[in-house]
Amino acid sequence: MSLLLNSRDIDFNLYELLDTEALTRTPRYAEHDRAVFDAVIEAARVLAEEKFAPFAAKLDANEPTFDGKHVHLPAELAEAMEAYIAGGFMGIAAEADYGGMQLPWVVGQAACAWFAAADVSANSYPLITHSAINLLSEFGTEEQKQRYVEPMVSGRFFGTMCLSEPQAGSSLSDIQLRAEPTAQGHYLIKGTKMWISGGEQELSENIVHLVLAKIPGGPPGVKGISLFVVPKIRVNDDGSLGERNNIQLLGLNHKMGFRGITNTVLNFGEGGECHGWLVGPMHQGLFCMFQMMNEMRIGIGMAAAVLGYTAYLHSLRYARERPQGRLPLEKNPNSPQVPIIQHADIKRLLLAQKSAAEGAFSLVLHCAWLIDRQRTETDTDEKRRIDLLLDILTPIGKSWPSEFCLEGNKHAIQILGGYGYTREFPLERLYRDARLNPIHEGTHGIQGIDLLGRKVSIHDGAAFKVLLEEYHKTLAESADVPELAEYHAALTAAIHTISETTAALDALRASGDVNRALANATLYLDAFGHVVMGWVWLRHALAAQRGLAKAEGSDVDFYRGKQNACRYFYRYEMPKVAERCALLARFDDTCLATDENWF
Ligand SMILES: Cc1cc2nc3c(=O)[nH]c(=O)nc-3n(C[C@H](O)[C@H](O)[C@H](O)COP(=O)(O)OP(=O)(O)OC[C@H]3O[C@@H](n4cnc5c(N)ncnc54)[C@H](O)[C@@H]3O)c2cc1C
Repeated sequence: MSLLLNSRDIDFNLYELLDTEALTRTPRYAEHDRAVFDAVIEAARVLAEEKFAPFAAKLDANEPTFDGKHVHLPAELAEAMEAYIAGGFMGIAAEADYGGMQLPWVVGQAACAWFAAADVSANSYPLITHSAINLLSEFGTEEQKQRYVEPMVSGRFFGTMCLSEPQAGSSLSDIQLRAEPTAQGHYLIKGTKMWISGGEQELSENIVHLVLAKIPGGPPGVKGISLFVVPKIRVNDDGSLGERNNIQLLGLNHKMGFRGITNTVLNFGEGGECHGWLVGPMHQGLFCMFQMMNEMRIGIGMAAAVLGYTAYLHSLRYARERPQGRLPLEKNPNSPQVPIIQHADIKRLLLAQKSAAEGAFSLVLHCAWLIDRQRTETDTDEKRRIDLLLDILTPIGKSWPSEFCLEGNKHAIQILGGYGYTREFPLERLYRDARLNPIHEGTHGIQGIDLLGRKVSIHDGAAFKVLLEEYHKTLAESADVPELAEYHAALTAAIHTISETTAALDALRASGDVNRALANATLYLDAFGHVVMGWVWLRHALAAQRGLAKAEGSDVDFYRGKQNACRYFYRYEMPKVAERCALLARFDDTCLATDENWF
């Protein structure tokens, strides 16, 4: 079996949990069938194993360098990108009109998960480019689509997203990059962007920066932010490359992980005019960019999930092969040592990883499938339900894998003992890579504030209500299954607890004590996420129960493994919901009331 992901689990998610095949009955995906989905996912697996995984350690050990003129990257990265582009993966979910394969988003995520598991940093170039393609496809003019989308789909150009600045990371309302209108229709872009992934590289002919900036005289704060397309090299009307656009690389950031992708400080308009073109309506830039950010958040959730997944599989193999110690009842020192997988504590670490990684992977695929449902649903009321569901699940799809699969990466190192701490094994690299996920695309803390401060209460709590309806559907389906009674009861109780806690915090906020209501938002995010994962695991156990009725061979262990991971999650993790909610419902102000001088 692959050490990257489990193909059987991908099938389970796509075809036993989500009705992915039903998408082929919609006009958008009518050209495809399951055989195409499976072939594309298998092709991705082969390419990831052959062209990405073998060089991941080398990319990590040889971070990008800048000699003042050129950025240098290991040659294997260019080869991997060429193979990826030749395989058509850059346009995997892009519109057929622009040369894309127009596959469902969920199939694209399942396929690209192999690349992320093989080398998450190399996969970041296409990941960001996919989002840039979608953003311009949605909000760009026809001319912008011809000029930038087609070359990105064909892999000639790569994309970036330029939001952060040195003084403005979480607080985007404080960005300072300026866009001055000109009589010719373009804008003059001036200022500095920080942390831009893939901001400079020589893998692609051109780089399409999607940039947030403020037009002078616009409203203050986020309402004055507009979105621009700013190419590294200007593109002529006939599609050929023109003059350089005066974007200077000030330097590379040296990172703990994710070392295959450059991370840059860029100066726009340094040494000459930098031209940018407005995308979408003026001052609506953040709204447009949110589409890219939401897709990227699901992409980050997927990266976190598969980093946890591959670490789990590596540590599982090690645990089966490493003899060490004897079981407590064995008193004969001459008896052979047992493989460490026989120790209960190692099984605990493996179960913690399995329940986090497989659960997170499933949640992210579910979010991706909702994007497909959103794109194909024709009934207005149902579409609105899907919009709301996606709205409330996206922060969880990003943050839960980022936080709890990182814990899984920690457990994977632990299973290898001292060997896990060395560079002989990939676990320490996977841990360093995974450490980024709770930081970028909105830190873990900011996701909590977004969820509690906005998403659970907007439109009179409509999104939360739709999520509750989804929970109740699964509860109804599992109500008469005696084997699942324990989980049914525990999920029912957890839903009640999180609903009561949400109502209490909402009331506190409405009373004006916003600071206190939001003081423990991160704990709320984690408790909320655990309830979502409880729902995910009950769905797995239910599908496994059905599958077992006709399972043969290795499928029997596969389904039993699902049921057992569900049992682990409910017994070891679900009780944390009540613990966190108790603190939240007390409106605990220990952190809020702490005087800065007491540190
Ligand atoms: C490797 C890497 C790649 C990146 N790639 C990109 C990219 O391609 N494009 C891009 O635009 N950006 C990118 N970023 C930037 C990233 O999105 C930011 O680092 C992130 O949003 C946090 O901003 P900051 O670093 O300025 O931290 P700050 O915003 O200064 O936050 C510092 C800490 O304070 C907390 N905090 C901040 N505000 C609040 C608040 N109101 N309430 C409570 N807590 C708060 C945060 O949660 C965090 O823990 C990247 C970053 C890294 C490290």
